[in-house]
Amino acid sequence: MIKTDVLVIGAGPVGLFAVHQLGIIGLKAEVVDNLDKVGGQCIELYPDKPIYDIPATPECTGESLTKNLLEQIKPFKTNFHLNERVQAISKENENWKIITSKNKTFISPNIIIAGGVGSFEPRKFSVDGAEKFENKNVFYSVKDKNYFKDKEICIFGGGDSALDWAIELSKISKVTLVHRRNEFRGAEHSAEIARKLEKEGKLIIKTPFQIDSIEGDKNIKAITIKSEDNKIEKITTDHLLGFFGLIMKLGPIAEWGLNLEKKTIPVNTENFQTNKDGIFAIGDICTYPGKLKLILSGFHEGALAARACFKLARPNEKYRFEFTTTSKSMQERIGVKKSD
Ligand SMILES: Cc1cc2nc3c(=O)[nH]c(=O)nc-3n(C[C@H](O)[C@H](O)[C@H](O)COP(=O)(O)OP(=O)(O)OC[C@H]3O[C@@H](n4cnc5c(N)ncnc54)[C@H](O)[C@@H]3O)c2cc1C
Repeated sequence: MIKTDVLVIGAGPVGLFAVHQLGIIGLKAEVVDNLDKVGGQCIELYPDKPIYDIPATPECTGESLTKNLLEQIKPFKTNFHLNERVQAISKENENWKIITSKNKTFISPNIIIAGGVGSFEPRKFSVDGAEKFENKNVFYSVKDKNYFKDKEICIFGGGDSALDWAIELSKISKVTLVHRRNEFRGAEHSAEIARKLEKEGKLIIKTPFQIDSIEGDKNIKAITIKSEDNKIEKITTDHLLGFFGLIMKLGPIAEWGLNLEKKTIPVNTENFQTNKDGIFAIGDICTYPGKLKLILSGFHEGALAARACFKLARPNEKYRFEFTTTSKSMQERIGVKKSD
C-alpha cells in the first residue's frame, strides 16, 4: 500500500505539470497511467507535430514538450506507475483508497484526475478466440522482442507500428505481415523497406487480407485469412500481433459516482474540485463554462487544483502564496537553493 499526498491519474502534459505545481508547494504525488510511456496525447498521437501555443515556447513538438515537462519535475523524484489503469476508488475514513488494474493500492486524501479523453486502449481482433489467447499468443504491443524470437508470427495492420515491428521482428523470426488494403498507411520509407524485404524473401506480405479464424487449443496453431474476393488462406503461426490503432475510452472513471457531462467531468473553477471532496479534474477531462481543450488551460487548472490539495494533505498548516523567483522554500524543493 502506497501513501501519498496526491494520486494523479494520467501522465499527459496536464498531469505532469500538476506534479510540478504540487512539488513546489511541498506535496508528494504518485502518477498512474494506462500507457507504457508518459506524455498522453502528445506522445501517443502527435510526437513529431509542432505545437505553437505553449506560452513562451514559440515552437515545440509533442515529444519535446513531454521531455521538458519531465525535466521540470525531475527534482521531485516522482514515481510513475505505467501500464496500469486506475480501476476503482472508494472512501476510507478521511482518505481515498485507489486500486489499479495491477492490484496496487494507494491511500491519499486527494486524487487529481488528468485523464484526458480517457484511457487509450488498443483496438482488438474481432475474431472468435482472440481474447482467449490474449497475452499468451495474441498481443497488441511488444514489451520484450525476445519473446518473439525464432517463432512464426503474423502481424496485422498497415500503420507505422505494424510496419516497424514487421521489419524488426523479420530479423529474428518468420514474419507474415497482413493488411486489409494494398497500400500501407505508415511512413513511405518503412513501406519501401518492407517491400524490399519481401522481394528478398525475408518477409511475407499478404494484402488485401483480413483475419478470418484462429485455430488452436492451448496455444494458437494456425489462422486463416480472407481476401476481399473471399479467398481463404491458412497460415501456421505461434503469435499474432495486432496494430489497429488506439481507441479512447472513458473507462472506469465513469463508474466512480462523479457527475458527468458528455464524457467530461464538471468542476468548480475556483479549485477544480468535482462533486466529490478531494477529487479534482483538470485538462481535457474537465468541463466548465468557457472550457478550452488546450494544454495551456490545463496548466492553469493544475495550479489551482494543487493549492486545493494542500488543504486536505496538510490540514494543520496554512497555505502561503509565494513566487518561485523569491521563495526560498520553493527553490529548495526545486533544488536550486541549499537549505541553511
Ligand atoms: C493531433 C492533435 C494536435 C493537438 N495540438 C494541440 C496544440 O497545438 N495545442 C494545444 O494546446 N493542444 C493541442 N492538442 C490537444 C492536447 O493534446 C490536449 O489538450 C492535451 O493532451 C490534454 O492533456 P491531458 O493531460 O489533459 O490529457 P491526455 O494528454 O489525454 O493524457 C491523459 C492520460 O490519462 C491516462 N488515463 C486516462 N484514464 C486513465 C485511468 N483510468 N488510469 C490510468 N491512466 C488513465 C491516458 O492513458 C493518458 O495518457 C492536440 C491534440 C491532438 C490530438
